[in-house]
Amino acid sequence: MTRSADLFEQAKQTIPGGVNSPVRAFNGVGGNPLFIEKADGAYIYDADGKKYVDYVGSWGPMILGHNHPKIRQAVLDAVENGLSFGAPTELEVQMAEKVIEMVPSMEQVRMVSSGTEATMSAIRLARGFTSRDKILKFEGCYHGHADCLLVKAGSGALTLGQPSSPGIPEDFAKHTLTATYNDLDSVRALFEQHPEDISCIILEPVAGNMNCIPPVEGFLEGLRAMCDEFGALLIIDEVMTGFRVSKSGAQGHYGIKPDLTTLGKVIGGGMPVGAFGGRKDVMQFIAPTGPVYQAGTLSGNPIAMTAGLAQMEALSEPGLYEELAAKTKRIAEGFKAAADKHGIPLSINYVGGMFGFFFTEDTAPMTTFDQVTKCNMEHFRHFYHAMLDEGVYLAPSAYEAGFLSMAHGEEELEYTLAAAERVFAAMK
Ligand code: PMP
Repeated sequence: MTRSADLFEQAKQTIPGGVNSPVRAFNGVGGNPLFIEKADGAYIYDADGKKYVDYVGSWGPMILGHNHPKIRQAVLDAVENGLSFGAPTELEVQMAEKVIEMVPSMEQVRMVSSGTEATMSAIRLARGFTSRDKILKFEGCYHGHADCLLVKAGSGALTLGQPSSPGIPEDFAKHTLTATYNDLDSVRALFEQHPEDISCIILEPVAGNMNCIPPVEGFLEGLRAMCDEFGALLIIDEVMTGFRVSKSGAQGHYGIKPDLTTLGKVIGGGMPVGAFGGRKDVMQFIAPTGPVYQAGTLSGNPIAMTAGLAQMEALSEPGLYEELAAKTKRIAEGFKAAADKHGIPLSINYVGGMFGFFFTEDTAPMTTFDQVTKCNMEHFRHFYHAMLDEGVYLAPSAYEAGFLSMAHGEEELEYTLAAAERVFAAMK
C-alpha cells in the first residue's frame, strides 16, 4: 500500500470522495489519486517521494513551472505586510493596468477569487446590462459550477436546458440554451427561436474541458456577428486560455473582440484568483457605479495579486510564447509520431501552451464534442496508467487538455516522448 493510497483512504473519512474537487479523485481513469507533497519546475513529487514530469500544472496556472523563484520571493516579501486588508491597495491598480495592457478588449476589470466567480459574475452583468434572462452556452464547454452553467442540452441543440446536477431547479436551467460547439447553425437556430431573450453567448475560445478542441475557421467571427445582430453580449471565457494560448489570450491569437472576458488560473500565479472585465460601458453597470451587485471579502487579496503580478510580468519576456508553443507542438506531434509508429490510432490538437490527444480511428480533425465522446476510453486509461508508472503525470481524464510550462526543458520533453514510445510499443 502506498502512502498516497493510505492518505486517500483516510481522506475519504472526512472529505467527500477524499478530494476537494471531483476530477482529482481519478474517477476518469480509475485507481488511487496521487497525493502531492511538493512541486518544482516541471516536476511534482508525490507522498511516496516519486517524481513525475507534470503536464497538469495545477490545471493551468503554473505556466512558468512550479515554485518559480521570482513568484516565491515576491510572495514571501508581500507576506511581511499582512495577508488581507479588505480595503483597496496599489497592487490591485497595478494588476488592473497589467491585465488591460495585455488584453486590449478589457477596458475595465474586477478581480474575484476563482474562475467560477468570474463567469457567474460576468453572466449576471450581461443579464443586467441587456435586461434579458437567457444565456447561450455550448455542450462540452465548462465554465465553473454556477447553477446556470451546469446545464446541458436535453436532446439535440434546440431543447431547453436540463440541469446536469441535482440541486439546480429546472426553472433556472430553462434559461440556459445549449448549442453545438463549432456549429454556427445551431447558434442561429437558438437566436431565431429567442430573438429578444438571449443576453449573452459564453464560450471557451479553445475548448479545454472536452479534451482540446480549437474553434474552426469562422466560428468565433460568426458568433461575434450574431451577437451584434441580435443585441447579445459575447463573453469569451479565457479562464484556461488567458495568457496561455498567447500573451493576449485566445482572443489575441484568433483576432476576436468580445464584450466581456473572464480570466483565472494563470492570472493568479497559483493563488485563488479570477477576473472579469471588458467594455467600460458594460463594466460601469456593476456595483458600486451600477446596479448589478457583485462583491468579495478576499477579492484582490494582496498575496494573490502579488503572485499574479509577478507571473504576468515574467510572461512579458520576448519570445516566451513562441518557445511555449514550440514545446507544446513537440509533445503533441511526438505523441502522434510514436503512436503512428506502433499502429495505435491517435489524433492530436494543440494551440499555444495547451494540447490534447484522442484515441480514435476518426481521421477527420477533432472539432466536435460528439467526436470526443466516441474516443476509446480503454486505450486512454491504459495509456494514462502506463505513463504514470513511467513517471509522467497527465490530466486524469480524457476530457481535459494538457498544459506545458516554460520549465519543461529538452530533458523533460525527451524523457516524456521516450516513455510514450515505450507505452505505445507495449500497447500494440
Ligand atoms: N472556465 C473555464 C474555461 C475553466 O476551465 C474553469 C476551470 N477549469 C472554470 C471556468 C472554473 O474555474 P474555477 O475552477 O477556478 O472555479
